[in-house]
Amino acid sequence: MLDTKNIHITRNSESKIAQLNPDNIEFGKLYSDHQFVVYFDGKEWKDASVEPYQPLTISAASPAIHYGISIFEGLKAYKHDSGKIAVFRPDKNIERLNLSAERMCMPKVPEELYYDSLDVLLDLDRDWVPAKEGTSLYIRPFLFSDDDYIGIRPSQSFRYMVITCPVGAYYSQPVKVKIEDHYVRAVEGGSGYCKTGCNYGPSIYPAQLAKQKGFDQLLWTDGKEHKYIEESGTMNVMFVIDGKLITPKLGDTILNGITRDSVLTLARDWGMDVHERKVEVAEIVDAIRSGTLQEAFGVGTAATIAHIEAIGYKDEMLQLPKVEEREVAPKFLKTLDDIKAGRTEDKFGWLRMI
Ligand SMILES: *Cc1c(COP(=O)(O)O)cnc(C)c1O
Repeated sequence: MLDTKNIHITRNSESKIAQLNPDNIEFGKLYSDHQFVVYFDGKEWKDASVEPYQPLTISAASPAIHYGISIFEGLKAYKHDSGKIAVFRPDKNIERLNLSAERMCMPKVPEELYYDSLDVLLDLDRDWVPAKEGTSLYIRPFLFSDDDYIGIRPSQSFRYMVITCPVGAYYSQPVKVKIEDHYVRAVEGGSGYCKTGCNYGPSIYPAQLAKQKGFDQLLWTDGKEHKYIEESGTMNVMFVIDGKLITPKLGDTILNGITRDSVLTLARDWGMDVHERKVEVAEIVDAIRSGTLQEAFGVGTAATIAHIEAIGYKDEMLQLPKVEEREVAPKFLKTLDDIKAGRTEDKFGWLRMI
């Protein structure tokens, strides 16, 4: 095991922080000054360091490039009034990263190493966590094959890294989603439950086709019959029908979202009637038509909650109840925002303070 306190730090002598305008942050454009790197040589983790954010040197034969031997996570940190940084549910991300690692024949990242990577990097780039209401720092841990070997086999050497970027107040616009009845994101026995690069590349083309038809995103259905709703883009989906909160139950074709889990935890805590089960496309279409569907929304780290205002089904655009009149999703959003910002008691122990 790595001596995790032995992290070599090289400070960035040319900070870009002056380029950060908290009033207008464009997602993914500007990265914080430093990156965390550690190497796995087939036996142990070594040479942990924090260095200036910079391009990588990697073998042109790396299976990360050729075969998508690469996994990632996404989480956020919030600046509290006290100046401390609150990271939201990081324990869930390391659990999921290591689940993805197993599926991709990669070594697990030791928890202690993971927490050290967050602590050291965020402490050094503390000023990059914006303080303005609704803003946050997006954290991207990732692990990829560092082999210099082009054959298809389990890799031996790996690199685990963390980069971060400030994100603006994401008051997400309501989205129009299209029920996908041809393309497939995940199938049973596949890798849909993992955040591995190879799940995301192929989803861009069908999403682009839907965009050309005026949709913001796809609502993926099961890969066998296109009969059941799975999830949307990088969000899980939830429906409120007759006062019940309904969401597709997890399996190996659905990403186990941390926002999903947080929303379900709140809902149960509030005594809501929660159903995790298979959700048929036909059921949702019928509920929209009969007026029993009250709300539909996506849940994920990027937007936290995104209202769905319309659903495309075959050649029809089904309009959902007015977003301004919804009550359930806004309550989840407000509660989660308040917990993250430290305005509400963190009764579930979701924040890690740095
Ligand atoms: C990341 C992701 C989600 C949402 O997960 P969170 O942990 O809530 O951010 C949902 N679906 C897919 C496909 C994802 O990649």
